[in-house]
Amino acid sequence: MLDTRQGQRDSVAKITHCLRAAAVRKIDLNNFHVATNGMVRDINSRILLNLVRKHQPVSRADLTRYSGLQRSTVSVITEQLLSKRWLKEGAVGDLPRGRKPTFLHLNAERCGAVGVAVQHDITMLGLATLDSQFIAQETIPTGKDPDEFISRLSRCIVDLMRSRPQMTYGGIGISLPGRVDISTGRLIFAPSLTWNNLDLRTPIEAATGLPVQLENAANACALAEAGSGKYTDHVNNLLAVTVSQGIGVGIILHGQLVRGAGGMAGEFGHVAQMLHGPRCRCGNEGCWEVLANNVAAVRYYTDEVTAHNGRGSRRNTAQLSFNDILRLAEKGDIKASKALNRMAYHLGEGLAMLVAGLSPDFIVVVGEVTRAWTVVEPVINEVLERRQLGGRCTRILPSDPETQPRLRGAVALVLQKYFSAPPVS
Ligand SMILES: [Zn+2]
Repeated sequence: MLDTRQGQRDSVAKITHCLRAAAVRKIDLNNFHVATNGMVRDINSRILLNLVRKHQPVSRADLTRYSGLQRSTVSVITEQLLSKRWLKEGAVGDLPRGRKPTFLHLNAERCGAVGVAVQHDITMLGLATLDSQFIAQETIPTGKDPDEFISRLSRCIVDLMRSRPQMTYGGIGISLPGRVDISTGRLIFAPSLTWNNLDLRTPIEAATGLPVQLENAANACALAEAGSGKYTDHVNNLLAVTVSQGIGVGIILHGQLVRGAGGMAGEFGHVAQMLHGPRCRCGNEGCWEVLANNVAAVRYYTDEVTAHNGRGSRRNTAQLSFNDILRLAEKGDIKASKALNRMAYHLGEGLAMLVAGLSPDFIVVVGEVTRAWTVVEPVINEVLERRQLGGRCTRILPSDPETQPRLRGAVALVLQKYFSAPPVS
């Protein structure tokens, strides 16, 4: 009886906490889902699937404890997940007394995903298992002609899937350096690709027979980071900032990806930071991205060399890439380090804008610049300290380039349909 009362008190405390923490979300009377018994089962099933992914190998008793569901409910749902091959049983645990538990695992081979990360110069492809582990990868040039690119990409996807005939695939996730109209699947804004109003979805679905999910690269990276389990359990507000030829921001607030009207939310890279600054590819002047992207660092290095050696030296730097600047800085080149410092200063100014405007728990920076994090982090932190409002609680973290965050983001687009919350009300 005491246990039951304590249980009731815990439940009331949990519900009160949830109500206080809950974001106000209006019921959309033009697009709502009424609650059904099937929906309750679906939600509980996804909760258990996520708990197995996080704690595997895990026993049914531990799932009961983690979820707060009745033991019998956990038993019914895990049997369903086993019969549908989303889970599999592994080793038998050792207990001093009583029935020995059989541990549950995610059946990683149950369903694969094809991830495609398009960048302005190269496109990476990867085949991943249900637990986001890559089992095959490929890289192709992106090129200028969109039709040529689509047929080369489609052939490459089909070849990759044929190399693993035992796998079944849940779909293809494509992350793009631009904004996508989710309803039509068309790329509507991508200055670094010069492909406008392009339909990537229809021809790739026709060539591969799989559903295609398109998304902006920063949004995809934010989804992958939020679902990675790297952070604390309560990361509901996370931004991913992709820095390359452009700057994109993926926004997850209250656990939900923010797309905005027309899918254009997150274009902070085109918010002006400098009056009469350098001309941006979008046509405006002084945008954040034109001051803080990889191209800006190369320009700052050229400025340093020209200031030191005269204008004639400018042609010697014309062919340099951002990777060259990183290599020079690693070798101790002072001008390259100064160029990275200038880029970091402007990155910090933009990140301060994001912290002030959206107050996320974490901002994850994705891009080659993270290779020089020991150089750029102190500069970014100095700007954030100077511009902080109240006590800053946002943490700025570099993504690990070795984990291929863009490709992982593309895979997350497919896998989220199995692990994310279903739409309710
Ligand atoms: Zn711009």
